[in-house]
Amino acid sequence: METSLAGNGDADRRRRFCVPEVFRPGRPGADNIAGVREVVIPPTLEGFRDAARRLIGAGVAPEDVVWRERDEPASPGLFDAPSPEPPDPGPELMVPRPFVALAGAVVPRRDPERWRLLYSVLWRIARGDRDLMLRRDDPDLQRLRRLADAPDGSPAASASGGGAAAPNGAAPFVPATADLGELARAAASCQGCDLYRDATRTVFGKGPASARAVLVGEQPGDQEDLQGAPFVGPAGAVLDRALAEADLPRDQVYVTNAVKHFKFVRTPKRRLHQTPNSAEIGACRPWLLAELAILEPRVLVCLGASASKALLGDAFRITRDRGRFVEASYAPRVLATYHPSAVLRAEDPAGEKRIYDLLVTDLRLARSAIPG
Ligand code: SF4
Repeated sequence: METSLAGNGDADRRRRFCVPEVFRPGRPGADNIAGVREVVIPPTLEGFRDAARRLIGAGVAPEDVVWRERDEPASPGLFDAPSPEPPDPGPELMVPRPFVALAGAVVPRRDPERWRLLYSVLWRIARGDRDLMLRRDDPDLQRLRRLADAPDGSPAASASGGGAAAPNGAAPFVPATADLGELARAAASCQGCDLYRDATRTVFGKGPASARAVLVGEQPGDQEDLQGAPFVGPAGAVLDRALAEADLPRDQVYVTNAVKHFKFVRTPKRRLHQTPNSAEIGACRPWLLAELAILEPRVLVCLGASASKALLGDAFRITRDRGRFVEASYAPRVLATYHPSAVLRAEDPAGEKRIYDLLVTDLRLARSAIPG
């Protein structure tokens, strides 16, 4: 018995076209490399289905796909960059009902590996292995079935590198100190969540203790992880340029991240950034609060969705709420804007310019709140 992966009926079809799934072809500075395609989906069966159909239609093999999921199905993209119109869906794909049932059981799990495993199985079915679901000894199917059978929250349901937070997060590692250097040294030993396991080092904030402006990004990237300093990679270059245009020199601001360890997935050629989840952001928040308590900035700028989520709450939306001062206790003036990575991730030069201009405008607004 087979069923269509296109879903059933017009209502389902309408829902499919609302799914904000994004394919991002390789662009300089973005998390794409030749031969590897990054696919961002809402963590739903519909999100996976639509992406998988297009990938199979385009002949993209499982080893050439890195799956990433958005925290919230209805929210804008990773750094709230505007999404393009959804591309045309791929060809309709008939799959065995057991696959649909298995996918339905696995999708609610938290293991980020589930998308890769599901696509690997689906790819082989689409290539003609129609009896695959009958096989008991297929390793991918075995892992998917274990995942489907595991109770929620058990290791089998989540323990494939998802970076779940330890119960207490960073709080037990944060010393009572007014010294930024001591704070940074203590952070080097933090094990408040699982992200320390795969990253090279803790990347703490950097800048003068006298800085009147603090900028908070998401997490260190590949270069930051290797060099041990925030915003030293491609996004850092964009930030430096925007700060200079906003008359806010980089050496006069303190820059840090909501999450201090690099979260990534390893591909054969490169480590690709993964968005930290809410648990990881919450686990790392004590470090950020400790930095802000010592710095007492005049202006605080949240760069992107993760920093905004960490400091301004889950309801904050960059696309809706950026570019204006909001009430918050961390500083007299607090605002949010795009993460510089959103410039690099723009779909085309026009989008790149638009986001960059907004970033500069918002940084100018931040600059205006600093006397002198
Ligand atoms: S990400 Fe933050 S909470 Fe997690 S281990 Fe690193 S410093 Fe600690």
